[in-house]
Amino acid sequence: MTTATSEMNGLDERLARIVAMGIADEAIDRETARMLLDGDPHEDLWPLVHAAGLIRRHFYGDLVRVHRLNNVKSGACPEDCGYCGQSKDSDAPIQAYKLQSKDSILAEAAQAKASGAFRYCMALAGTGPTDSEIDHMVDCISEVKSKFGLETCLSAGLMDESKAHRLKAAGLDRLNHNLNTSESMYPEICTTHTYAQRVETLHAAKSAGLGVCSGIIVGMGETSEDIIETALALREIRAESIPVNFLLPIEGNRVLDVRHNGAALTPAVCLRILCLFRLINPSAELRMAAGREQHLRSFQSAALEPANSLFIDGYLLTKGSGVESAMQLIVDAGMKPEFDGPAPKGLREILDGGTAYATIKDEKLSEPKLAKLRVRGVESKEC
Ligand code: SF4
Repeated sequence: MTTATSEMNGLDERLARIVAMGIADEAIDRETARMLLDGDPHEDLWPLVHAAGLIRRHFYGDLVRVHRLNNVKSGACPEDCGYCGQSKDSDAPIQAYKLQSKDSILAEAAQAKASGAFRYCMALAGTGPTDSEIDHMVDCISEVKSKFGLETCLSAGLMDESKAHRLKAAGLDRLNHNLNTSESMYPEICTTHTYAQRVETLHAAKSAGLGVCSGIIVGMGETSEDIIETALALREIRAESIPVNFLLPIEGNRVLDVRHNGAALTPAVCLRILCLFRLINPSAELRMAAGREQHLRSFQSAALEPANSLFIDGYLLTKGSGVESAMQLIVDAGMKPEFDGPAPKGLREILDGGTAYATIKDEKLSEPKLAKLRVRGVESKEC
């Protein structure tokens, strides 16, 4: 708090007031939100990022939570979400499979632990889980908790309170169910279930004592107003965790054209949107989620000012950057991954201020690879 206060000296009066509100966990109003989102995305971008960073540091210091996602049941979903390759309406060439065995789910949890993940997220395609799927996930979650002690999150579609209670009793920490967009835009992206049903699921999770993870997909043709509506709705629900996804268009899906306010999504727009979510939900765990690599691109380090969490090793249906580059990104931003226990051995060199390049030391390098390293300023494979 003291740090934030002293660093506010460099901000103009309006941003200093916004930071003070954020530290008190108060949201900015709609008018301010509109002003911050509209106009030239580059204008006064860095003071805004700095302000969002001061609020984030007040609640989370310089720590970053790393999440690893396992799509435990894929495809064959009867819903028609236009952005999703698992939908009945999509022709995306995805690999569909039934609910994974306990052994597979535990093996992925072991991988998550070994790669330094703070939280292991499991996702099931479908409208909602059957009783037997809940039985299976209850069994898996209690073993993930007892064997690895990882924080857990489950995404399983629509859910009532009794199922949520069973998952809570098994040790589940959070239930994910994204709002994805504003209530008014929702019928444009999905017609087989409603926005209200999504909100009901989040209330069921809350009533069962689960933490709530719920976010947005940016780039589906929404306006700034839709973004603000969604951020305010998540504040009303008091979502503990907010993933901000940026649309990854998958050929075969209905929603393919990446647009925001009628224009292309740029890194500056993505960064502003992350800042806005921090200013409306100051104390939430804010994740730069799917699409960070493609849409934030070289702004990913800066995005760790508003955001305090990210995914490693890809998303539901698409690849993302691996653990080493994510850890390097965190270290380069002057931050630290939050581990539950000691840092995994393979990452210590990066975390101690080394570089991801150091991990290639033991490889037998061909002359073309060595030439590439020299271009990057690495003089010898022993350096
Ligand atoms: S987002 Fe979920 S509910 Fe919607 S189509 Fe995909 S798997 Fe089904």
